[in-house]
Amino acid sequence: MSFQSLKLIEPIQKALVEEGYSTPTPIQSQAIPLILEGKDLLGVAQTGTGKTAAFAIPTIQLLVQNQIPNRVKRTIKALIVTPTRELAIQIDDSFKAYGKFTNLRHTVIFGGVKQGKQTEALQNGVDILVATPGRLLDLINQRYISLKDIQIFILDEADRMLDMGFVHDIKKLLTFLPSKRQSLFFSATMPPEIQKLADNILFKPVKVEV
Ligand code: AMP
Repeated sequence: MSFQSLKLIEPIQKALVEEGYSTPTPIQSQAIPLILEGKDLLGVAQTGTGKTAAFAIPTIQLLVQNQIPNRVKRTIKALIVTPTRELAIQIDDSFKAYGKFTNLRHTVIFGGVKQGKQTEALQNGVDILVATPGRLLDLINQRYISLKDIQIFILDEADRMLDMGFVHDIKKLLTFLPSKRQSLFFSATMPPEIQKLADNILFKPVKVEV
C-alpha cells in the first residue's frame, strides 16, 4: 500500500513527500479511505502508530474538497479535542505540516496560559481548531468560539481523557456540537465507560484496531 493509492489530493501528496513519508502505517491505510467516505470511525490505537496523520490527512482533504468561499469570516469546521497541551501542540504541528500547501488555517488552544493570543488567533478566523477540554469550554462560554459549523469532530486519547477527569467536560461539549457531523473517536484502550462514551458520540461507526 502506498500513499498514491489513497487518492490524496496533490497539495497533501506534496506535503507528505516533504515530510519524507513514503508508506502509510496500518492505521493510516485503514482509516484514511473510511474517513474520506464520510464514515464515523472508532480507532483503537496507541500513540506512535501514526494515528495523528490518520485523522489529520483526511480531515484536511475533506475540508479542501468541501470548501465554500467564506463570505464574512472563516468559521471552525473541524475540531480536535485532546487531553494535554503537549498533544494539542503536536496535533496542531501535524495540521501545519500536512496542510502547508492548502489555504486552510488552524490554531491550538490550551489552559495554563493567558488567553489573549489564543482569542486573537480565533478572531482572525480558523478552519481547524485543536483544543484541550477546559480552555475550549471556557472560550465557548465567553463566545469566542462557536461550534455551529463543525463538520468533523475528533476526540483523541479518549481513555486518557477519562483518567484525567474530563468526561463531564466532554459531555458538556457534545451539547454545543451540531448533530449532523462526522465524528472520529480514538482511544488506546476500550474499557466499558469509554465504549459508552463512544456510543454517545459516534453514528454507525466503523472500527479500526491496530
Ligand atoms: P503519532 O502516532 O501520530 O504520534 O505519530 C508517530 C510519529 O510517526 C510521528 O512523529 C509522525 O511524524 C510519524 N509518522 C506518521 N506517519 C508516518 C508515515 N506514514 N511515515 C513515516 N513517519 C510517519
